[in-house]
Amino acid sequence: MSDFGGKVAYLSGAMQIQPESLEPSAEMRAQWEQVHQDMRKEFGEAIFRSWLRPLALQAYYHGTMEISVPTRFMRDWIQNHYASRILEMCAQANADIKRVQFVVVQNSTSADAEPVGASADSQSSSSAQALANQNRKEAIAALASPLDPRFKFETFVIGKSNALAHAAARRVVESMSVPFNPLFIYGGVGLGKTHLMHAIAHAMEEFWPAKTVMYLSAEKFMYQFVRALRSNETMNFKEQFRSVDILMIDDIQFIAGKESTQEEFFHTFNALVDQNKQIIISADRAPSDLAGIDERLRSRLAWGLVADIQPTSYELRLGILQAKRAQLKASVPDSVLEFLALKVTSNVRELEGALNRIVAHADVAKQEITLETTQEVLQDLLRSHDRRVTIDEIQKKVAEHYNLRLTDMHSARRARQVARPRQVAMYLAKLLTARSLPEIGRKFGGRDHTTVMHAVRKVEELIGDDSQVAQDVDVIRRALVG
Ligand code: ADP
Ligand code: MG
Repeated sequence: MSDFGGKVAYLSGAMQIQPESLEPSAEMRAQWEQVHQDMRKEFGEAIFRSWLRPLALQAYYHGTMEISVPTRFMRDWIQNHYASRILEMCAQANADIKRVQFVVVQNSTSADAEPVGASADSQSSSSAQALANQNRKEAIAALASPLDPRFKFETFVIGKSNALAHAAARRVVESMSVPFNPLFIYGGVGLGKTHLMHAIAHAMEEFWPAKTVMYLSAEKFMYQFVRALRSNETMNFKEQFRSVDILMIDDIQFIAGKESTQEEFFHTFNALVDQNKQIIISADRAPSDLAGIDERLRSRLAWGLVADIQPTSYELRLGILQAKRAQLKASVPDSVLEFLALKVTSNVRELEGALNRIVAHADVAKQEITLETTQEVLQDLLRSHDRRVTIDEIQKKVAEHYNLRLTDMHSARRARQVARPRQVAMYLAKLLTARSLPEIGRKFGGRDHTTVMHAVRKVEELIGDDSQVAQDVDVIRRALVG
């Protein structure tokens, strides 16, 4: 029964049919007023204004004080952050108070944060408005791109490389107002940009159901725009895009060179920013690197917060695989996950694909997953990663990248500006070829295999800690495997 505790208590209060018995006494109202004011001192003006001011005493029964909040999001937030202290303060004011319960009550004065849905039907006065809102949402949904139900915050694994983008995305959802405009997220393919945007959309739907969120690819934006032009519906188009609370455009690089679409997007962008509506953009590169995008627009895109997603580190890849294994409820040995995390480094999409393949294969073949079956099933994929890359090529590319001579790769020089690139080359050799550690060591001026192992570990570590190294490695790797 215990997990129904809250609900049962709430119902037993609500079922007391004589509403007057729920009505708090004048004395209690005064006590609440005092406590509410004290919160301002206790938590500070900013927190009070963002979270606590809308709290209102709703009812009292059997030692339970019922406090209303305007949205589910606020209720959860207050529950997690302030509830225990608020209870203490209430109990201090009136020893009869044993519990404080936060309930979501629609408040017509805070139209901005007004939720629809579950509680809307209890308020017939706002049902017409809820319906209108519903219709508007449906019209918006028809223009938008579909959301993947798996792309949620709960399923997003955080590492150093994506921590900033993740925190920024959370902030958009958790803020009462627009924290930065626009939020610009960029990074290589398959690194989680779309996942984060969908996560924002899902969380908004959950916590701020009255807000209209529109997510679409830049390609779809262009398509909708061109279609509106053709059918003389641009007014309608403009109006719909300007009516949303959050507009998310994925892969903005797509509109490079598409001038009229850019022009339209620029106006939409400005109109929304003027109304203080949130805009979130993703791209495969930084705003300043978006060739083919008008200078005005490029500089606008960098106005707010620019958050990049770096290539994954070994730890993050392993973390993602572990999470995915749990989701799939598959029994995959750790050694296989480690192997995949080491070998499939291009992006998360490919990493997930590899895991899915071995799990599906084991399922069909009714075979246990081992390192051997994994290598067999993923032969083509692993080969494409090993694709004709030789240690010589790696050494050449690395030397070029760092402006060194090729002989520096074999030399015994230990100066850092030579030793570090050499370690990068060893790391790439381990990653991209099927050569063993001793073989690699031999190719680097006859070094010991432990030296190679150390280099591999060191570079892995640096990729996690040093975005310059991460970027260098990524650039060289891409130059090698295409
Ligand atoms: P992008 O839009 O950057 O090209 P996606 O968001 O489509 O990449 O991500 C590709 C795949 O990798 C998706 O299935 C996504 O769920 C997964 N993915 C990416 N990053 C993460 C992460 N940090 N945690 C869990 N899954 C991730
Ligand atoms: Mg994407």
